[in-house]
Amino acid sequence: MNLAVRTAARPTPAEIGDPLDPLAPALFEPLGVDGVYARTRVYEDMVERLDALISRHREAETEVLRFPPVMSRRDLERAGYLKSFPNLLGCVCALHGAEADIRGAADRHEAGGDWTASLSPADLVLTPAACYPLYPIAAARGPVPRQGLRFDVACDCFRHEPSRHLDRLQSFRMREYVCIGSPQQVSDFRERWIPRAKALADALGLAHRVAPASDPFFGRTGQVMAISQLQQSLKFELLIPLRSAERPTACMSFNCHRDHFGAIWGLRDATGEVAHTGCVAFGMDRLAVALFATHGLEPRKWPGSVRGTLEL
Ligand code: AMP
Ligand code: ZN
Repeated sequence: MNLAVRTAARPTPAEIGDPLDPLAPALFEPLGVDGVYARTRVYEDMVERLDALISRHREAETEVLRFPPVMSRRDLERAGYLKSFPNLLGCVCALHGAEADIRGAADRHEAGGDWTASLSPADLVLTPAACYPLYPIAAARGPVPRQGLRFDVACDCFRHEPSRHLDRLQSFRMREYVCIGSPQQVSDFRERWIPRAKALADALGLAHRVAPASDPFFGRTGQVMAISQLQQSLKFELLIPLRSAERPTACMSFNCHRDHFGAIWGLRDATGEVAHTGCVAFGMDRLAVALFATHGLEPRKWPGSVRGTLEL
């Protein structure tokens, strides 16, 4: 067969586009950078309803904290983020120095030159997951009470993973329930949340399965960390087949950090042992995209049970 003919007959992956692409005009406005979008009213309304639904499932004695999209660079460095995901981290930079230096950089830009060479890191990074800012706060309060601690946190998160796919954003919303306590308390917390999250996905009419998972640790040493994470069953994900059953999208995760954060931040439980931590994370934007991908762009036509669940 003539190769040229075959190439012409088969569209390239870029020409085929992604199955989620047709959703974009109704849900997002482009902002000039892949994975960073303005959100339309119909989309944002759904994110708010999902948020309210998750709040209705909040366990008793859970403290609510909302974090800004930036956090202390020193705290994230101390949390070990650079060991695991240096490629995903976004760092805030600013023009420091005297007025003349700052003016010089700005003028260089006005003259068509590069002002960014004058940037230097500020004390802030872009928060990559909603639970990172929590651990130093909890540690500063002293010993973890015998019954453990539970938190409800949320944050606009950043991960430097530019993509054209609507389910892989650079700037996205994450909501989390976090447990700090004994190994048993953290394990029980995760055991409670996996079936609860599956029931939530069922009530939302979203096909799903929960599977063991690993984080995308950086580089070759990262592969070893990922294998160890899988072997110890430290992470599970709720996967939704947004484009195919073979390549489903992780929309929630259930994470056991063991004593990682406890040891770093000096979190101790009632017996003086280093506390364990765990979290269940909801990808708010992925869940919203999943709803539109599954049920269509007109919420008034969604199944009655789904509308009921979302109080539509
Ligand atoms: P993780 O900490 O990687 O388990 O992330 C928690 C949840 O955040 C995931 O299950 C996703 O739903 C969501 N999430 C992670 N990365 C992205 C991304 N690049 N775009 C949109 N949502 C994301
Ligand atoms: Zn977390």
